Amino acid sequence: MRWLGHAAFSLVSPNGVRIVTDPFDSSVPYPPITIECDVVTVSHEHFDHNGVAGLKGSPRILRAVVGKEVASTLETIGDVRFRTVASSHDDTGGSQRGPNGIFVMEMPGMTVVHLGDLGHALDEKTVSSIGKCDVLLVPVGGHYTIDGKTAAQVVRSLKPKVAIAMHFKTSYIKDWPITGPEDFEAEWKFVKRLPPGEFEVDLSPNKLSAETEVWIPAI
Ligand SMILES: [Zn+2]
Repeated sequence: MRWLGHAAFSLVSPNGVRIVTDPFDSSVPYPPITIECDVVTVSHEHFDHNGVAGLKGSPRILRAVVGKEVASTLETIGDVRFRTVASSHDDTGGSQRGPNGIFVMEMPGMTVVHLGDLGHALDEKTVSSIGKCDVLLVPVGGHYTIDGKTAAQVVRSLKPKVAIAMHFKTSYIKDWPITGPEDFEAEWKFVKRLPPGEFEVDLSPNKLSAETEVWIPAI
């Protein structure tokens, strides 16, 4: 897996399906995303999440939001089953920033959940709709999304094996009104800071601690 900046990750399923999540468009000052992939997930139609134009190849584009709602996407591509769970981009039912799709990606041996621009804590119904979550990609920067404290609450409600922070301030987006990952980090006893580049997610019990591991990626 690799963090490409903001809410964009690239990951490859056991059978080789190449996935990119929430690519940002060229106006976002991270290094442009130009990799080849098979599937792109788009949690909602904002420029920092739906910049599919730069991607190489002819990937399938799975858009969670259709019209003003989260569509119930259910697609199986190769060994990955994609489904969406409805949520909002704010804590007022989407009245300020609209709907947001949570992508659940089930692949052999691992379920990855991408929360998009989630704007609120999760109720029980949403937690059970998401179901099993091994690896959680969670926004922590606040302002447009949940902040570090609420993000920690969301992690505790979903109980993943690994929670990876995203959508936080870095040196690339110094002027954005979001925070760094510090408030989120402060919620945990142990946090692993990943070096830039690719990282491996190995869910073997002897590789992970018994409690949720919290990782902060770098680019
Ligand atoms: Zn965003």
